[in-house]
Amino acid sequence: MPYDPADPQKDRITDIGPRYFRDFFPPVIEKNFGKWMYHEILEPGVLCHTAESGDKVYTVRVGAARLISIEHIREICDIADKYCDGYLRFTTRNNVEFMLDNVANLKPLVDDLKSRKFSGGSSKFPVGGTGAGITNIVHTQGWAHCHTPAIDASGVVKAVMDGLYDYFGSMTMPAPVRVSLACCLNMCGAVHCSDIAILGIHRKPPMIDHEWIDKLCELPLAIAACPTAAIKPAKTEAGAKSLEVNAERCMFCGNCYTMCAAMPLADEVGSGIAILVGGKLSNRRSKPKFSKVVIPFIANEPPRWETTVKAVKNIVDVYAKDARKYERLGEWAERIGWERFFEKTNIPFTHHLIDDYRFAYTTWRQSTQFKY
Ligand code: SF4
Ligand code: SF4
Repeated sequence: MPYDPADPQKDRITDIGPRYFRDFFPPVIEKNFGKWMYHEILEPGVLCHTAESGDKVYTVRVGAARLISIEHIREICDIADKYCDGYLRFTTRNNVEFMLDNVANLKPLVDDLKSRKFSGGSSKFPVGGTGAGITNIVHTQGWAHCHTPAIDASGVVKAVMDGLYDYFGSMTMPAPVRVSLACCLNMCGAVHCSDIAILGIHRKPPMIDHEWIDKLCELPLAIAACPTAAIKPAKTEAGAKSLEVNAERCMFCGNCYTMCAAMPLADEVGSGIAILVGGKLSNRRSKPKFSKVVIPFIANEPPRWETTVKAVKNIVDVYAKDARKYERLGEWAERIGWERFFEKTNIPFTHHLIDDYRFAYTTWRQSTQFKY
């Protein structure tokens, strides 16, 4: 309807986002919403939630990639139609969960999922990712989509998950291990608080394209975007307006490149991976923790990122062997002492690992319980 100044609210559409999530609930979830009593893990990848009414819902979790083909999604939907009245959901860690209330369909569903293979022989729908195991890696866009990545995302995750595959389908860890990846320190993935975090970092200041910068960018915006005031206006020899970066002040955050495409900082030698460990979100047993850098730099090694896979696997294996039951990775490292963590994992300690960020003190001794 045309806009009516006498009645400005008439026919106004304000809610144009996704549909209300409850429209998509399976009937058993809708019926028992907010009234679930407890859940059990029947086997790796299979959960059973019981409601106050006695209703049960069974969930079968399978790993999936973050970027998947239409054919794969159609196959997932066909499986859900066959066993789950068409209901399924995607988790934030890119797992797919098939949900059903008819227990007679549970075993046929699990058997069907386990039987489906890619033409190369690998499992199409690996069942697992629950409890004290390693679930899927939450990750970011990487080279497939974003403009600031220091590393790829999907490629690294595929290689690392191939290395950790046996831990996905079993629950043999002392406690859950959350692995995350962010391809730059904007951290679209929750790497600041994961048991193991793979973080893309740049180590060189932006390269300025003097020919294009004034044509492509609002120069004051790029200057204002820099958190360390490292950018100032400059002129080229030909007199064109440009910018200059003080490399000593630059912390390679990429904020300026977000504002201005003529200031790229991804570099074959300068960009790579840092590994952080020991973070967690949960309040269980101990306070939530930030992850700490333990390996400051690993070079980009597409297509299989061998050094990164080896480093992550090493940390996981040592933790799995040495930690006590229920102990998260950060809790284990704190109990044995971080010095012992470096000894046991055979990771060299360097001065790059010391937190000298000048605002770091505002993050020390804080928790979700209270701040002191
Ligand atoms: Fe882009 Fe950085 Fe997010 Fe990766 S983490 S998707 S590079 S903003
Ligand atoms: Fe400033 Fe970050 Fe750009 Fe360096 S990368 S110049 S610190 S905005």
